[in-house]
Amino acid sequence: MSARILVVDDVPANVKLLEARLSAEYFDVMTASNGTEALAICHRAECDIILLDVMMPDMDGFEVCRRIKSDPATHHIPVVMVTALDSPSDRNRGLEAGADDFLTKPVSDVVLIARVRSLTRLKMMTDELRMRAITSLEIGMQAPERSAVSDTGKGGRILLVDDRQSSYERLATILAAEHTIDVEPNPTEALFHAAEGNYDLLIVSLDLNNFDGLRLCSQARSLERTRHVPILAIADPENATRLLRGLEIGVNDYLLRPIDKTELLARARTQIRRRRYTDHLRDNVQNSIEMAITDALTGLHNRRYMESHLATLAEQAATRGKPLALMILDIDFFKSINDNYGHDAGDDVLREFAVRVRKSIRGIDLACRYGGEEFVIVMPETDLHVAGMVAERLRRSIAGEPFAIHKGAMRIEVTISIGLTTLERKGEAVADVLKRADTALYRAKHDGRNRVVSQAA
Ligand SMILES: [Mg+2]
Repeated sequence: MSARILVVDDVPANVKLLEARLSAEYFDVMTASNGTEALAICHRAECDIILLDVMMPDMDGFEVCRRIKSDPATHHIPVVMVTALDSPSDRNRGLEAGADDFLTKPVSDVVLIARVRSLTRLKMMTDELRMRAITSLEIGMQAPERSAVSDTGKGGRILLVDDRQSSYERLATILAAEHTIDVEPNPTEALFHAAEGNYDLLIVSLDLNNFDGLRLCSQARSLERTRHVPILAIADPENATRLLRGLEIGVNDYLLRPIDKTELLARARTQIRRRRYTDHLRDNVQNSIEMAITDALTGLHNRRYMESHLATLAEQAATRGKPLALMILDIDFFKSINDNYGHDAGDDVLREFAVRVRKSIRGIDLACRYGGEEFVIVMPETDLHVAGMVAERLRRSIAGEPFAIHKGAMRIEVTISIGLTTLERKGEAVADVLKRADTALYRAKHDGRNRVVSQAA
C-alpha cells in the first residue's frame, strides 16, 4: 500500500528528515517549501496525504489547511499538521481549520508511520468511493462533496465506553453540548450496545478495569454493523504505546488524558463529518448500482443487466447439466395503445404488466425489460414443458383482466405474445438462444397474437 505524501515545511532540514523516514517505508514523497506551492500540488491531485508545517512565512499552515478543506476539489485529502510544540492552542486552531491529525516535532518514527498508514487506508477508500460518486453525478445524481463541505459535524450520535464515573460524567457533559451521547460503563455490553444503536462515533477508553479496550475496538471493526463507525480512543499517557497498536487495528483517532474540552469536541466533529461523508458516498454507490441494473419505469432489470447475467446463468446451467428456459414477451398492438390513449397510458400498461409478471414468476427467475414493450424472462432449472405452463399462465393473467389507465378512469384490454425456448446444449451461445426465442415470438405474432409458441432447442 504505497501512497504519495506531500511534505510541506519552510526549513529544508525538516523536509529532508521526514522525506528520509517516509521513503524508508516505501512511501512516495513530494516536497514543497511554502503554502502556494503546496496548494498547487493538491490541485493537480498529485498527493494522497499532506504533512503540513504550521509556522511558515507568508501563508501559515492554518491558512493552507483552511484553503484545502474549503475547496471541494481538495477537501478530502487528509491533512496532518506538524506543530513545533505540543501546544493545545495550535492544535485547536488546526482542528478548526479542518486538519485531520497532528504530529509534534520532534516527530517519533513509530507515530509518524502509524498515522500515515492509517490515513492512507482511509484515503484509498475515500478515493474509490469518490470515483464512483462522480460517475453517479454524471448521470444526474447529488454531489456528495458539496453537502460534506457544509456539514458542521454536530448533532451526532455517540456511544462512550468508559467505566470511570468521574471520567465519563465529565466527557458526557462536554459532548452533550453538541451531540446525543449514550454512556456504556459496562465494557462487556458495549459491543452489543454499539451494534444496536446506529452510532456515528464510538469513544472507547483504553484504561478499563479488567477489560482490554483494544479488544473491543477490534471486535467493533470486524462486526458488520459497526465496522464503518469511527472509533476515537482515549487513554492515560502511560498507555500511549497501546494507542499505536490501536491505530494499526483501525482506531481512527485518539486523545490523551487529561482531555482538553475543545480538542475533544473538534475531534468528535471531524470523525462524525468523515462518517457522514463516507455514508453518503456509500448510499450513492448503492443507488447508482441500482440505477445501472434497473429499468426505471417498471422496476424490472434492464437489458444491460440481463445480457451480462444471462451469460452467467447459461454457464451455470451447462456445468450443472440443468435446463434453462427463456421467453421473450411482447405486448400486442402496443403502438396503438400509445396512439389512442397517450404515452402516459402506455406507461401505465407497462407498469401494470411488470406487476403481473412478478406475480407469475419465482424468485430465482430473472425478468427484464428488453426494450420498448418487449420483455425477457429467464428461468433456471426449468424445462420447456414447465416453462410453457408458466408462459400460458402469464398470458392468461394479462388477457383475463383489463388494464387500468388514466388513473383508473378507464380500462383497456391488453394481450401478449410469447416466444419460448430452452438452452440445453452445452456451450450454446446466448445470442443463439435469444434468436430462437425471437423466432418463436415472430410465429406467435404471425399466428394471430395472444398466444405462446414454444421452440425446442
Ligand atoms: Mg516552519
